[in-house]
Amino acid sequence: NKPVCECNTCFTGPDCSQFIPDCTANAESGDPLFLEPFWMQHLASSALVVAGWHQMSYSYNDKTFISKELEKLIRKVHAIVGNAVTEDRFIVFGAGSTQVLIAAAYALSLENTSSPVGVVASVPYYTLDKLQPEYFNSEKFKFEGDAYTWRNRSDARANMIEFVTSPNNPDGQLKKAVLHGPNVKTIHDHAYYWPHFTPIPAPADEDLMVFTLSKLTGHAGSRFGWAVIKDETVFNRMIAHMELNSMGVSKDSQLRTFKLLKAALEEGTEIFDFAYQTMKTRWERLIETLSLSNRFSLQKIDPQYCTFYNKVREPSPAYAWLKCEREEDKDCNAVLMAANIIGRQGSRFGTEDCYVRLSLIRSQDDFNILMERLNKLVAEEDGAK
Ligand code: PMP
Repeated sequence: NKPVCECNTCFTGPDCSQFIPDCTANAESGDPLFLEPFWMQHLASSALVVAGWHQMSYSYNDKTFISKELEKLIRKVHAIVGNAVTEDRFIVFGAGSTQVLIAAAYALSLENTSSPVGVVASVPYYTLDKLQPEYFNSEKFKFEGDAYTWRNRSDARANMIEFVTSPNNPDGQLKKAVLHGPNVKTIHDHAYYWPHFTPIPAPADEDLMVFTLSKLTGHAGSRFGWAVIKDETVFNRMIAHMELNSMGVSKDSQLRTFKLLKAALEEGTEIFDFAYQTMKTRWERLIETLSLSNRFSLQKIDPQYCTFYNKVREPSPAYAWLKCEREEDKDCNAVLMAANIIGRQGSRFGTEDCYVRLSLIRSQDDFNILMERLNKLVAEEDGAK
């Protein structure tokens, strides 16, 4: 049994078994607790004990901040899944992909320049692609909004960086870069490019690709992410950034990541099968409910051939990108809030508030409560099908 640390907000009592009827369904953040049951089934193989004297030094024996054993294991995971080319590529670690993404922006911006590189992402984009460049307020780069608005523009900045999140957060689409040309550099955020969330049509082979443990094993709190990089100069600049920014990634985090990946691989494809089945079942339940609605619609994702499962696969996205169809429901988040559901409004992704993102990767309790609230909302709808 799971030891009770704290209850889900919809449950109370000494063993968290009492349901609070009017509680709010939390579909807000992308906390990947849907993988918790997998790890509860693999207690012994995933447990880690570290002696007090162990791994105290800043660096590893080779004087770097990157565990070569972990790097090898990450290459092996990519080779088994077939989701990224890592041969003859460099790998950098970061404190979650959050740190890796901004390190990549620094590494790709120009060294000695008076005008900042323009950073763009196509709408709807991952919120941090805007928030991080704005917050760091660097002389090297400046957030310039939707990538589509910079296509064919004569006043386009000489140099641009495009964040390409694929599959996309919020809408789960396999996204392609919008801008091309000798002065455009891309950062491909492949946080969700795992069989859990998408068919894998081919190994990704872009210049700079970013991955995260958070959405692979679900260990978001370990704060571990990595980049796979083609160009040695870009790699060196990212390493320099990480050394100045945080002196590399916590060795405890690297050790735990190693242990978890090793434990997962010992079970063959079980983690992917579990994650895919869970996400697919959730998506099917959601579609079934919303197919009765005239008021709400969902994104459409085409089935595609998956080289990991050797078959054409239905979608299993991490998020629902819900649209309120009625004119009077322009503030879709308010409509959902009134029905006791918290999502994340469209404007956070650079688009209109008739869209709301609902997280489908949280715990089973969170998902079940979300479905209960949505079923009720659709059942009360005037003219529901
Ligand atoms: N990229 C995308 C597209 C994400 O959705 C997230 C997490 N929500 C991240 C990066 C950051 O994840 P982390 O820092 O946990 O690796």
